Parts: sequence; C-alpha cells; structure tokens
Amino acid sequence: MREHRDYLARTAGMTQRQFDVLLPGHNEGGTMKAMVLDRVSAVEGKPLRMAELPRPVAGRGQVLVRVLTCGICHTELDEIEGRVSPSQFPMILGHEIVGRVESLGPGVRKLKEGERVGIAWINWACGKCSFCVKGEENLCDTAKWTGKDAHGGYAQYTVVSENFAYPIPQRFTDVEAAPLLCAGVIGYRALRLSGMENGKVLGLYGFGASAHIVIQVAEYEYPDGRVFVFTRPNQKEHQDLARKLGADWIGATGDTPPEKLDCAIDFTPVGEPVREALRNLQKGGRLVINAIRKTTPIPELDYAEHLWHEKEVKSVANVTRRDAQEFLPLAAEIPVVPETQEFRLEEANEALILLKEGKIRGAGVLKVAE
Ligand SMILES: [Zn+2]
Ligand SMILES: [Zn+2]
Repeated sequence: MREHRDYLARTAGMTQRQFDVLLPGHNEGGTMKAMVLDRVSAVEGKPLRMAELPRPVAGRGQVLVRVLTCGICHTELDEIEGRVSPSQFPMILGHEIVGRVESLGPGVRKLKEGERVGIAWINWACGKCSFCVKGEENLCDTAKWTGKDAHGGYAQYTVVSENFAYPIPQRFTDVEAAPLLCAGVIGYRALRLSGMENGKVLGLYGFGASAHIVIQVAEYEYPDGRVFVFTRPNQKEHQDLARKLGADWIGATGDTPPEKLDCAIDFTPVGEPVREALRNLQKGGRLVINAIRKTTPIPELDYAEHLWHEKEVKSVANVTRRDAQEFLPLAAEIPVVPETQEFRLEEANEALILLKEGKIRGAGVLKVAE
C-alpha cells in the first residue's frame, strides 16, 4: 500500500526514496523500532536516529529474526565516521546479533521458528570466487557484511540467510552471547593466525571487548603460555580486568615487557601500537593486527629494529562462518565469561561515544527486547 509507505516514511523523517532503499520489501502489518544512520557524521553529534519502520520480510532461504540483544563494535565507529562507509544510506548498523527466529522465508530447511540464533559480520558470500572455494570467504570479492551492506541489529527485527545464522549455546544469556559474535569470533581468528603455542608469550595491545575474550581462550588452550597486556596508560579499569582474567604482566603501550613476545595481537584503533609491538617481538615472531581501519597512521618503521630477523605482520580481515561455528561451542566449553555493560537500544549513541573514549569495561551490549 503506497499510502501506508508514504505515511511510514514521513513519520520516520525520510524521503520516500530513502525509505524504499532501507526496506524494499516489508510487512504491511507490523512495524519496528530501529536506530538508523543517515550519513557519515561525527559520533559526538549522536547521529543515530530512532525511527519507526516496517518490519522486513524474509526472502527465499532467509529467516526473520526478532532481535534480543546486539553488541556494539568499534566497526560501527568506523562506519559512522566514514572510514568504512556503509554501501547505502540510511543504514541500520550492528553485527553482533542474538535473536529468535520469528518466521521462515520460503525454502528454509535448517532453522525452526523460535530457535535462538546469532548473526555475525559475515552476512553473505558468493561461494564461487577464488577465495570462497579455498574456504577464505572472509576475503570474498562480493561478500556482504551485516550492518554495512545488509541491515543489522540496531533494530527490533532483521532478516538473514539461514546459512549465516548460528545456534547459540544454551549456557550463555542473550547479553553474554552478543559480544561472542564479533569480538569473540574475530578474536579467535586473530589468535589462530598469531601462531600462539603452549609455553609461548602472547602480547595483547588494547584490552577491550575482543582482547578480554581472547585472553580467556588463550588461558584455556595454552595453559603454560604467558599473556602480556598493554593498555592506554590511564585505563585502570581495563588493567584491573586483565589482572582478574589472568594476565601475567600488564603495562602501558610504550612499555618494554620483561620478555620478548613470541606473537602479538594489536586490537587498538590507532597506529602507534603496531610499531611498539614489532619492537617488542621476538625474532621470527608475528604480529596480527585486528582492526578494520586505523584512525591514526602507523609511524615510520626502522627496518633493523622493527622488521629484520624474520618478523611478520599480518592483518585479520572479517570472519568466516567456520570461525563462528568453531568458536561458539569452544566458548561454551571453556566457558568464556564476557564482561558486559548494558544499554537500551535508544542509548546506542551514548554507548558508542563511551566506546570511542575507551570507557566501556569489556563489551557494550544493546538490550533490544525487554
Ligand atoms: Zn565487529
Ligand atoms: Zn566469494
């Protein structure tokens, strides 16, 4: 019904075109609340806008998911501030989604109504390109990313292909499960890529949502390994959390640890820790950079000090379904206990500002359903 769409577009404060881009097909019957991003903006200006929109409808092979919780991730800051721009506006961000299957689109076979599922950053991959056929769908040429190319979880409902939704282990609450879906899954991928082994020393630069989960996985998988944590100098809360979770040494970025690092993961959004981690790496060591973008440049490297002796640098890009399928049961077995700070959906702007300021202890989670 065109009139109904006109009405909804007006009440959502959008032009008809913006509205059609946001929700091409929709259920005339129901609406949902969503926090939408209209354009690249400064996060301090609280750019996410609460809107009442029609519920999306599950297409072929898709399910409609009623969102229970959605984690907040640093990538949202990159999207809002334009370092990784959404492929269209307005966009609903959010890619750490825990929800219940509300209804099934045609042809859905694996999922059932009422099942609790998680949705991660990878929303769709082609399955045919040279990367996909090697199992590297995280590098797929035409992949879609949740909350960037497909609407995400800062809303009461979302749709996803049933092949990109994962069962959530029972032991996690809706709030606990949310950060596992990006911070946890990508942290797990970064840890695997780091080459960490039992008995070795792992350095973690930055101790936010992802690192505080990675340390729990590392303590479990490498009981004789040591973990050294580097934070910003003033992040006492982050340092306390690192201590509580078993860090063997804690310092500030710029400090020299008591031993060289066999491997390191940089979780920070800035450039300086890259050089610092390389400086502290053991010969033959590897640094993995777990960041979609850096907000400041990587300082100039000195070949002899930072790279010689076969030091390696590798970035971690996105995640595969396999990462999620392996990590979620492992997280339940360990069990990972995420430290979370809860916000309401309408507080998303404030939560993102706190995240930018490095003031969230553990992971921030939006409680979408009451
Ligand atoms: Zn993320
Ligand atoms: Zn592909």
